[in-house]
Amino acid sequence: MNTFKTLSSIPESHLCCGCGVCAYLYPEDIKMQDVASSGRRPAFIRKDKSGDIYPKALTVCPGIHVAHLPEILRQKGLLAPLVKSWGPVFELWEGYAADQEIRFEGSSGGVMSALALYCLEKENVAGVLHVAADEGNPHLNKTIFSETKESILSATGSRYSPASPCEQLKEIDNANAPCVFMGKPCDVAAVKRLTDTQTGWSEKIALSIACFCAGTPSTNGTLEILAEMGLEDTATLLSLRYRGCGWPGKPRVELKHGRNSKKKVLELDYHESWGGILQKHRQWRCYICPDHTGEFADISVGDPWYRDATEDDPGRSLILIRTEKGRAVLQKAIASGYLIAERRNEEVLPASQVNLEKARARLWGQLIALKLCRAPCPRYGGFSLYQCWRQNLNFTEKVRSILGTVKRVFVKKLREKPRTSL
Ligand SMILES: Cc1cc2nc3c(=O)[nH]c(=O)nc-3n(C[C@H](O)[C@H](O)[C@H](O)COP(=O)(O)OP(=O)(O)OC[C@H]3O[C@@H](n4cnc5c(N)ncnc54)[C@H](O)[C@@H]3O)c2cc1C
Ligand code: SF4
Ligand code: SF4
Repeated sequence: MNTFKTLSSIPESHLCCGCGVCAYLYPEDIKMQDVASSGRRPAFIRKDKSGDIYPKALTVCPGIHVAHLPEILRQKGLLAPLVKSWGPVFELWEGYAADQEIRFEGSSGGVMSALALYCLEKENVAGVLHVAADEGNPHLNKTIFSETKESILSATGSRYSPASPCEQLKEIDNANAPCVFMGKPCDVAAVKRLTDTQTGWSEKIALSIACFCAGTPSTNGTLEILAEMGLEDTATLLSLRYRGCGWPGKPRVELKHGRNSKKKVLELDYHESWGGILQKHRQWRCYICPDHTGEFADISVGDPWYRDATEDDPGRSLILIRTEKGRAVLQKAIASGYLIAERRNEEVLPASQVNLEKARARLWGQLIALKLCRAPCPRYGGFSLYQCWRQNLNFTEKVRSILGTVKRVFVKKLREKPRTSL
């Protein structure tokens, strides 16, 4: 069994989630690179260093270790019935950006962008570190540091493809005031671990916001979407969105068309593209992820799937308040007119995220299977995994959680190094 003595052993064990924090910590030696079949992975600039330990990265890497402190889960005021499957939640809200353009462009209700904008304009943060499409290669992503509303708007909408927002943490490190960080739950977990373990980091994050996340599909997933649209070459792409512009929105590309530079637009159905194509391209670490809802963020945001989207639905987001800092920012963002939101009761969360609750419940059985097969296994703490498995799965699902994983160990060759390992 792999004990993760070196950084390179993490991608080699299929446990890298591509956050990029190792590349931030060791910029001279490591840069992130897209591996089309799996995700963004650390590449060692100097081959002779690939066997090095990189101890600071091993300490913060969310691929191999994520844990809650017991006192965080025992705080007064938490919604107790939610803690087991969803981590610390003080309040549940549903809302949307008051700015109609942000709401329309956003993935669900534009709440993440509206909160970031509020912090930029009213809380004197130096900037917002997050992810946007790479204009030169719109089927790929890049990390941006937004200091204007235009820049925040340019990044609205979920990108169902690999992104490494932590690789640019130097932007926050070098800023002259605290900043906002936005990313997936594993990206935020890496930043939380950094603030907990590295001197000077705790004052640098004014607010962390996580999106809910069922998993990151590889670049091959995006290429399959394009192929489904009839496009074999990315050279003519002008833009690519996975959703947004209404709720939930559709995958939509704009292409250069003809000599007079006309634009052509192609679209796919949202549910068919996620369920039929993207889902099967998720990286392995997402199949065994303990935190799909941003449990280490101040605020986390997802879709209110407890209700069906209506025709031309402008969208709303589900908002989880996870810290006192998050509670204060949400109240001020509502009071100053950036957000419109209403409290919801705690049943709305499991009703909205049935699949994510099941994913958490399967995890205990999956980890047992990995250990039995002597396949690489991450360390998780404080997620009530056995309780979730025992209470939230029926007998058949319990058996499948173990046997299905045993099968995947062999089908996905999880005990071998990936052929594309860098
Ligand atoms: C890979 C992925 C899987 C998801 N799975 C689920 C799910 O299973 N259930 C669910 O309810 N919601 C899921 N979401 C979240 C959902 O799609 C919305 O992002 C969320 O509801 C927030 O919407 P919003 O309108 O408030 O955000 P917006 O205002 O549109 O802002 C979205 C922000 O997310 C950032 N972002 C976009 N893509 C990425 C990325 N790949 N990595 C890091 N940051 C990114 C952007 O920089 C932007 O600032 C997923 C999101 C992603 C990226
Ligand atoms: S999960 Fe993040 S820190 Fe760990 S190896 Fe991958 S990119 Fe580096
Ligand atoms: S499912 Fe988990 S590991 Fe995968 S991208 Fe989302 S938060 Fe990261």
